[in-house]
Amino acid sequence: MTIDDAPRDALRGGPRELLRWVATGAAVSRADLSRLSGLSPSTVSQRVEALISQGLLEEAGAGRSRGGRRPRQLAVPTGGAVVGAIDLGAHHARVGALDLSGRVVQARTLPVRIEDGPEAVLGALLAEVATLVGGDPAAGGGVVTGGLAPGALRGVGIGIPGPVQHSTGRIVSPSRMPGWNGFDVAAFCAGRVDVPVVVDNDANLMALGAHRTAHSELDHAVYIKAGTGIGSGVISSGRLHRGAQGSAGDISHCRVVADPAPPCTCGNAGCLEAVASGAALVTALREQGVPVSDLTGVIRLIDDGDRQATALARQAGRAVGEILAVVVNFFNPQVVAIGGRLADCEPLLASMRATLYERCLPLATQTLLIERVAAGQDVGITGAAHLVIDHVVAAA
Ligand SMILES: [Zn+2]
Repeated sequence: MTIDDAPRDALRGGPRELLRWVATGAAVSRADLSRLSGLSPSTVSQRVEALISQGLLEEAGAGRSRGGRRPRQLAVPTGGAVVGAIDLGAHHARVGALDLSGRVVQARTLPVRIEDGPEAVLGALLAEVATLVGGDPAAGGGVVTGGLAPGALRGVGIGIPGPVQHSTGRIVSPSRMPGWNGFDVAAFCAGRVDVPVVVDNDANLMALGAHRTAHSELDHAVYIKAGTGIGSGVISSGRLHRGAQGSAGDISHCRVVADPAPPCTCGNAGCLEAVASGAALVTALREQGVPVSDLTGVIRLIDDGDRQATALARQAGRAVGEILAVVVNFFNPQVVAIGGRLADCEPLLASMRATLYERCLPLATQTLLIERVAAGQDVGITGAAHLVIDHVVAAA
């Protein structure tokens, strides 16, 4: 399917889509945008002028003439980093500066002690964003970008490894994040930078980043993030589906049959997170007397073919497959992709795939793609950047 016949009439020709077509190279002129959107040239011109006046699009010289005046070419400004992005994990954070097309300009990984609490952790990460874009948030009350005109930073996107109430940007009952419950991330950050700050959970941002970079032609997709925790993000009709409060896709506390059912951080027992997350694998191996300290150690054991670790990985893969089978039967996606640090764990992936095929309706799996998220360690900050870019374009 090409973008020309994508069934997304509700989105068709909106400013976000116009910007995306230019950013991806699908369109280089107003005429291209008119053809792709089906909108009249005057409507396209109006929207393009609005995007240009907001600094979100720019004229980039004259294109090839097909008779008559040479059309002016359009481009997304790529003069420097204009969006800040933070992908917070349990032990590390990826921090990046990206341009308006969602391309990473600069990024680095920092160690994080999540138990230091939200003020300390987010304060340090915002300072790192400022460093990457060449400014200092402490100076002048806002982030000022060095190589760019002051105020050229358009926003900051933040991914949190726990449930985020979408309407408020507040964290609600996260596992393994002591001191973060109820914290208003958006308000805290808004007090430190003078640009919009948007917050979402890390699985949603992985879904957005992976969809925009690898599957933008597909309308229905499910992305599993399997690392220390486990969650998923859902793309429905081409858009991130958050549900009423922002908890859509949170599969971590779905019950899987496990005997004996291990206790979960939520107070129940036998949740997917308590069986199949990286944290669960560490706990289970320790209980079997294997001296392993973290997920890296678990992955090393699995790669080395350790019998106990491999058996646990297979059990985890079956558990993920069981929950995913329900999701696939219910939602009928075109692709299921798995990312996060456990995505490279072959025994887990093989069991997940087998269970999925066994438990799904043939019609649901006939053309279903099951794959790894390909975008690598920058997929989260890419999603965060797209979240901000969408927000800025909508506001414009
Ligand atoms: Zn639970």
